Amino acid sequence: MAPSWNQELVRGWGMAVGGAAGVLRPTTREQVADAFADVQSRGGSIALRGSGCSYGDAAISSRGHVLDLSRMNKILAFDPIAGIARCEPGVTIRDLWRMAISFGFWPKVVPGTMAVSIGGAAAMNIHGKNNFAVGSFGECVRRFTLLLPNGSVVECSRDQNEDLFFAAISGFGMLGCFLELEIELKRVHSGRLRVGAVVCNSLTENLEAIERLQGEADYLVSWIDFHAKGAQLGRGILHRADQLEPGEDPQGVRYFDPCMQDVPTTLFGVVPKGWLWPFMWGAVKLGQVGLVNALKFAVGPREQRQSPYLQSHGAFHFLLDYVPRWQWMTKPGGLIQFQPFVPAAQAERVFRLLTETCQREGMVPYLGVLKRHRPDPFLMTHAVDGFSMAMDFAVSKRKQQREALWSMCRRMADLVLDAGGRFYYAKDAVLEQPSFERVHGAEVAQRFLALKNRCDPHCILQTDLSRRLLG
Ligand SMILES: Cc1cc2nc3c(=O)[nH]c(=O)nc-3n(C[C@H](O)[C@H](O)[C@H](O)COP(=O)(O)OP(=O)(O)OC[C@H]3O[C@@H](n4cnc5c(N)ncnc54)[C@H](O)[C@@H]3O)c2cc1C
Repeated sequence: MAPSWNQELVRGWGMAVGGAAGVLRPTTREQVADAFADVQSRGGSIALRGSGCSYGDAAISSRGHVLDLSRMNKILAFDPIAGIARCEPGVTIRDLWRMAISFGFWPKVVPGTMAVSIGGAAAMNIHGKNNFAVGSFGECVRRFTLLLPNGSVVECSRDQNEDLFFAAISGFGMLGCFLELEIELKRVHSGRLRVGAVVCNSLTENLEAIERLQGEADYLVSWIDFHAKGAQLGRGILHRADQLEPGEDPQGVRYFDPCMQDVPTTLFGVVPKGWLWPFMWGAVKLGQVGLVNALKFAVGPREQRQSPYLQSHGAFHFLLDYVPRWQWMTKPGGLIQFQPFVPAAQAERVFRLLTETCQREGMVPYLGVLKRHRPDPFLMTHAVDGFSMAMDFAVSKRKQQREALWSMCRRMADLVLDAGGRFYYAKDAVLEQPSFERVHGAEVAQRFLALKNRCDPHCILQTDLSRRLLG
């Protein structure tokens, strides 16, 4: 029987892009293969989708088909001695840590939300706040099974079908569908981390503090106040976190209970956090984001004085899950993120230029985050030996303002690419076709397109992102 595709509105996580598509939620690999065959027989295309956490158009296909893998979500095996998990692609980071923490393990790489799926994490080769120290998500994938659009099932690892191993991880869902992945987790001796805050009064201080600490800290992430100008431009608060050694935290094992890791659902134990986004929406609409940022910066010295303190892994990593549906504060236009990755030597100059451009054009990001990165061996890597600066913009429903934002981001992208920078497709909504070769270099871009042609000769796997970037 032919699969039955359901017409739905499918949007990027930021709600700024999306459209109607036929959606199917398979539960078995046979259903995935049937979906490929069905669409191919009708000359159509499919976008693979995990949890739909990519901000832009990476997991959507307007007027096409979307294969939503979130119901293929079984953890198939876990070795509690070695800390190795075999998972279906729809297993989320949350599913993984909830299972593993009871055994004293934690995923080596986690993003800012626990909602992402393992398949989506591998396809985008996501990074955590420890990218400078341990590398990307792909570096903890041992092997995976990939279903190619031509119907063949391929086993991939560092010594079996290596070209596909290094290209499908980072390949933004263009080469095949992950059916199973084997992931290596890390041993932790406490359910908590030692966390400290450092107030940074300028961009120079911010970048220097990260650079100074990257040899010793396990995790580093810095918040930026994009509204600060002049000598204070780029000011922010850096958070450092370190794992605890055996015996350092006598209470630590108590936090191996998954319930002790969940982010709190209420504010002050009373107000449901799900009620907070309308207040944040008010701040955006009334143009008070600058004031909110100034207040946040003002409480930084108090946190610095109270540092270091102990915090659960969940509370430290998943700050962005504290307020459910916080992206709704940018309704009705939604949000986009612009996240350039810039080599260390160029970072301060480029980030200063980008911040000044936003301030001059009156489109200042409401949130900014700095991270330190290192290169990784995956074909479509976004990492550099340098820094990234995530810039979150609220998008206006008004066509003219929306176009002005896209135009500014494209001009900023040119500055980044001229400086040898890269972009991360999970966060992109603005790059155009010529940028693809500039991000990866002509030789790598050609190698990727040749692999695409080999695995998917009828070009069944397409997303709005791939049509924008690959043509
Ligand atoms: C609040 C928030 C914070 C974030 N913080 C970070 C961060 O700190 N670091 C970071 O790196 N990223 C971060 N992200 C981005 C996120 O990690 C990536 O977008 C990730 O790819 C999302 O996973 P997903 O399961 O939602 O995949 P989706 O967004 O659904 O899909 C992502 C890509 O994976 C492909 N794909 C999905 N499943 C499969 C499969 N089974 N086989 C092959 N391809 C597949 C899709 O085609 C698409 O190209 C954040 C996102 C949010 C919303």
